[in-house]
Amino acid sequence: MATRTRSAKATPEPIDHLDGVPVYGWGQAPATLHTRPQLNSKRRRPKPDQAPAGYLRMRDPGDPRGRRMIDAELYPMRGTLRMRPLTDEELARRTCPTCHKTGTAIVRGDRCQACRRKQQAEAEREHRRTCAEWQCSTTRAQPVPPGQSWYCRSCTAKRAAAKRAEEQRAAAARRSCPDCGRRTATAPVIEAWKAANPGRRWRPRRCTACAEALHRKITTCPDCDTATTADLADVEAWLAQWEHHRREHFPRRVCGPCQAEREGSHHTLAPFSLVLPRRKALHTNQANR
Ligand SMILES: [Zn+2]
Ligand SMILES: [Zn+2]
Ligand SMILES: [Zn+2]
Ligand SMILES: [Zn+2]
Repeated sequence: MATRTRSAKATPEPIDHLDGVPVYGWGQAPATLHTRPQLNSKRRRPKPDQAPAGYLRMRDPGDPRGRRMIDAELYPMRGTLRMRPLTDEELARRTCPTCHKTGTAIVRGDRCQACRRKQQAEAEREHRRTCAEWQCSTTRAQPVPPGQSWYCRSCTAKRAAAKRAEEQRAAAARRSCPDCGRRTATAPVIEAWKAANPGRRWRPRRCTACAEALHRKITTCPDCDTATTADLADVEAWLAQWEHHRREHFPRRVCGPCQAEREGSHHTLAPFSLVLPRRKALHTNQANR
């Protein structure tokens, strides 16, 4: 801490003055001036009426957002008072349980700041020399540079095999009917199509039987399932554009007779009074359960 206010420059320049007293920026204060915590770490404190010889403009350590600036008082060592020596109990609280060194700050937890930093650095180093695969604990002798990841030999092989398997699966899907999985194209055919259609994505072709079944399904009336209501050319055009979204969304059209029946049934619906008692009974049954 003490080194932070010390400057390598011979003549530190104040950035401001408060009542004629110089204010220094962070790291710019003369080495002969000390903040109260710095004095305390040497078991010294300013006299009750001692005027500060300078100020250090710094972020307020009490501000959680670290934006507020404060001017910390600076005192020369000369003229300060010695604080009473620490008791054994107070010294014990400043002793690190891990490295057993007695510092100026009270140690909280099982290790001092220096030990904590050392522990974090070691953990980070250990992480960089461990295989990056999930749950693999294989290590190498030297850690890789920060930001890089390393996989052990067996994990590298496994990853390569998984990638190959995925590529093969995708290639097989490209060559097969999406409905039944039957072979519908060959790799040379797909390559030739790609060469002829640059920038477009190949879509797996349906086999004849599945294509016919699909056409039958979407060109017929949804009510009677027999009358054909759509033009095959329309369906082909629609499929080419929209099939990759959802082919069930093709607007199936109702045939003329079925449309007439739908409209007719609207008028012959049972009167409301006949429907209501049944609904009421249903509700009562549920309530009694
Ligand atoms: Zn320690
Ligand atoms: Zn591994
Ligand atoms: Zn098929
Ligand atoms: Zn119909």
